[in-house]
Amino acid sequence: MNTPVQRPLLLVVSAPSGAGKTTLGARLLEAFPDMIRSISCTTRAPRPGEANGRDYFFIDMAEFKRRIAAGSFLEYAQVHGAWYGTPREPVEQALRAGRDVLLIIDVQGAERIRQLMAPPAAAADLQRAFVDVFIVPPDMATLRQRLTGRGQDDAATIERRLQNAGDEMAGASRFQYRIVNDCLEDAAARLQAIVREEHGRVVKD
Ligand code: ADP
Ligand code: 5GP
Repeated sequence: MNTPVQRPLLLVVSAPSGAGKTTLGARLLEAFPDMIRSISCTTRAPRPGEANGRDYFFIDMAEFKRRIAAGSFLEYAQVHGAWYGTPREPVEQALRAGRDVLLIIDVQGAERIRQLMAPPAAAADLQRAFVDVFIVPPDMATLRQRLTGRGQDDAATIERRLQNAGDEMAGASRFQYRIVNDCLEDAAARLQAIVREEHGRVVKD
């Protein structure tokens, strides 16, 4: 009998800004040290404490357009006024090597990847690996508190992110899984359980 091979995952985690996807993503990476987090490119300015190549690759619009033209992004989108894109090559390389890849991206990016999964466009290894999870904030008041409490954005930015949250929530039903991030411990445990469950699932071509 062959030893069962664990299915590598292309795990897309999405949520309105402030719902807790970065926090839950970090917890997941602690629990699964072999999982690779995709580092996105963005045209937005670094926030204090952010490092190029660790949090994002910070590039200007001209370079971002060059990379779009070269087909370097698996997906890209304009989010809250800046551009963000997932570099294609590291994702494909990691999956080929049997590693899990975590994408923490907005709902437009998740939708774009979902479209890529629809045959006949999809590469079979991407299609087999794809799992998407939407993180739901307990309610809008809590979302506002979290965005304010994080202390990273000015009042106008927070208002814009809260306004966008309504549209983003409308797409929640398109995700395979939804997790309400009320108690952090429960939400982190649920996300880990999904990964364990999906590792073992056999996906036919
Ligand atoms: P996102 O990446 O979705 O924008 P973050 O992970 O940055 O959100 O979380 C926003 C803020 O809310 C952070 O300050 C984080 O520490 C806090 N937070 C995240 N999850 C919870 C939770 N379950 N309970 C309380 N605070 C939380
Ligand atoms: P922030 O500016 O707060 O780091 O991110 C803003 C939003 O952009 C978040 O919802 C984040 O998940 C999303 N984002 C980050 N990288 C990417 C990416 O590569 N593609 C897409 N579509 N969204 C991204």
